[in-house]
Amino acid sequence: MIYKRVGIFALCAMLCGILLGCKKEPEVVFLSLPSDENLEDQSSLMGNIQEVAEQMLPQMDSFESTEDNNPAIIQTPAPATANMGEETANLPPDIDPNLPMVALTFDDGPGSVSTTRILDALEANGARATFFVQGKQAVLYPELLQRAHSLGCQIGNHTYNHKDLTSLSDQEALEQVESLNELVREVTGEGCALVRPPYGKGWKDEHVLNLIPYPLIMWSIDTLDWKTKDSASTIKAVMDNVKDGDIILMHDIYEQSAEAAEAIIPALQERGFQLVTVNEMFACKNIPLEAGHAYRKAVQ
Ligand SMILES: [Zn+2]
Repeated sequence: MIYKRVGIFALCAMLCGILLGCKKEPEVVFLSLPSDENLEDQSSLMGNIQEVAEQMLPQMDSFESTEDNNPAIIQTPAPATANMGEETANLPPDIDPNLPMVALTFDDGPGSVSTTRILDALEANGARATFFVQGKQAVLYPELLQRAHSLGCQIGNHTYNHKDLTSLSDQEALEQVESLNELVREVTGEGCALVRPPYGKGWKDEHVLNLIPYPLIMWSIDTLDWKTKDSASTIKAVMDNVKDGDIILMHDIYEQSAEAAEAIIPALQERGFQLVTVNEMFACKNIPLEAGHAYRKAVQ
């Protein structure tokens, strides 16, 4: 049923593209970042995918490193297909836009115990985060999606099967995104407004940027939690580097990441950072999130 709807959506999207002649220039916001952020998103839970991902790291390094020395912000007018999604900026009253804030983001879940621990920590501290879920996990733990949503956390799209968007046909890529969107909408009542491309692949790819009708959200602090599986290392990666407007990459499928989050959440608050969702942070900074763009942090 979902795929049938997605197929219809993809067909309509392609027809609209043809009719509107919606070819447009790539529009990317990219900012400088520490060198270790070139390392890529983690693998899935399935089999030996992590080993495959590690084998891909050198390739990803070169892919990611070509423009990282340019600190400029490149921002062009929004494309005609810009889509802010359904999570527009109705800012909760507990946010002070004038105070520092960061967005914790967790990829690849929901996990079971690990995601529960992170949600417990967020709830206990009155904090929020953004979860870029994958469909094959979301179907296993829909109750965790519901709980995250009910706590005010944002649910982002990490594709249904954790696919490299640059390796797919247009139809396949849209199916990966929209089938998960449909699932999230069925579970929470609200679709995803943002996409984080698996393996970080595609955010500099003109074709992917033009194809995916949502903003792509990258990160400015990569904890490498998936690689180290060491909570102390993950905590240090955050606390040694964190600045106002950062997007922090973690993964909620590891116990060590959950342990780190339990320390990081109150520690960031003690240092004066508000922990908000990606949408909330960009709204507070008056930076529009637009389809056809990729974002690494919320800094004007
Ligand atoms: Zn991932």
